[in-house]
Amino acid sequence: MFASLSPEKTDLGTMDAESLWHPLVQHKSFSQKPPKCMTRGVGCYVTDTNGIEYFDGISGLWCVNVGYGRQELAEVAYEQMVDLAYFPLTMSHEPGIRLAHKLLELLGYEGKVFFSTSGSEANETAFKIARQYHAQTAPAGSGPRYKIISRYRGYHGHTMGALSATAQAERKLKYEPLVPGFLHVSPPYYYRFGDGQPEDVYNAACLRELEQTILYEGAESVAAVIVEPIISGGGVIVPPEGYLRGVREICDRTGILLIYDEVVNGFGRTGKMFGHQHWGVEPDIISFAKGLTSGYMPLSATVVKQFIFEAFLDDPGSDSHFRHVTTYGGTPVCTAVSLRSIEILERENLCERAAEMGDYLLGKLQRLLEHPNVGDVRGKGLLLGVELVKDKASKTPLDSDAVASVTKYCMDKQMIIGRNTNTIPGFTNVLILAPPLVMSREDADRLADTLCDAVFALSSS
Ligand code: PLP
Repeated sequence: MFASLSPEKTDLGTMDAESLWHPLVQHKSFSQKPPKCMTRGVGCYVTDTNGIEYFDGISGLWCVNVGYGRQELAEVAYEQMVDLAYFPLTMSHEPGIRLAHKLLELLGYEGKVFFSTSGSEANETAFKIARQYHAQTAPAGSGPRYKIISRYRGYHGHTMGALSATAQAERKLKYEPLVPGFLHVSPPYYYRFGDGQPEDVYNAACLRELEQTILYEGAESVAAVIVEPIISGGGVIVPPEGYLRGVREICDRTGILLIYDEVVNGFGRTGKMFGHQHWGVEPDIISFAKGLTSGYMPLSATVVKQFIFEAFLDDPGSDSHFRHVTTYGGTPVCTAVSLRSIEILERENLCERAAEMGDYLLGKLQRLLEHPNVGDVRGKGLLLGVELVKDKASKTPLDSDAVASVTKYCMDKQMIIGRNTNTIPGFTNVLILAPPLVMSREDADRLADTLCDAVFALSSS
């Protein structure tokens, strides 16, 4: 029975249970204890309705790169709302123009920027651009290049196309059949699947698998390959030297477009402005979201190189334009806030700081490897993963409940850390750290110490 929903009702826990459907959780887990309800945030910390402060080791959902409570972002949003809250990019507005310009300046190449509101939409947009690009450039008489290849453990979003590119079985079960034409290959997950081979040999095998898949499918049917430079939610999988270059070369040889999903990697997270800059290998299309506004506004972007855009050019009245629009993509407020958020990243050298603090934290976390249940500690910048196993020899993933006990221990110490959530046993065993880039050395010490205590509280299982 629905209790009275009067404006003066203050029992938020009851109201929550009555009305709110939370993502990714089994609601019965809230029957004893409602979810924590946050009221404010400053820097790396958020405070709940009971006044308890938590260190947010996962930046919300990997997005609050500049940290919470940035008054100047609120002021920019306020001023832009007063001036012009909304106008679509079927025409134009100044913050949209300036942000598109800024993104291309940061990337260092000529191109065009298409705005949407979420990471999923940025990827959907990338897939549609890739298909239409090929449709308009293919030699007469050739069939459509429509297939999209992604890697297992990659997450690319929740909408049906982006979910089809997502290669985490547990996210797709019960929603199938999905969109046809999406294929998956192995990522360079050396720790789990390297089998003691030298890393370059394993790397070459992963690349060969990609090339053979393209060969078997027929390159002329494949539109694009999409990769996160560093797989994030799928368990923090950092590619070895030479991997991205190899993917690029395969795409070049086969006429396939290369898309980078930098929804998590982008905007300083990995210690450089963009994740792929660690390897100096450029994509044809790139997707941004999350850190693009540091989570202060819903905004995403799909950036294409100029040669792709030119395939959409023709005389007015022709039908080669991009037939795609989103009502809220690139509003004046979202783009103005994004510009200021990027300005903060640059002004406060937060990419360099993420690199420095990431190295520091990764160094401190090496101590974890002394524990029999810690198989691997890895990452780049402030995107770090700790892989928990039953034992180091077999590398069998640690049971989900044991992994959950680590995150719970941290939460009890007011420290929010992430893990790759799943319903399929076997891939729930990577703890994930992605704190705001403003994290101090003291915060890093506390985060590392708490996590070490939590892991060492595990009896070896
Ligand atoms: N791509 C990656 C790598 C992500 O991690 C996510 C979300 O976590 C998405 C795409 C989808 O972004 P959104 O949730 O904004 O649709």
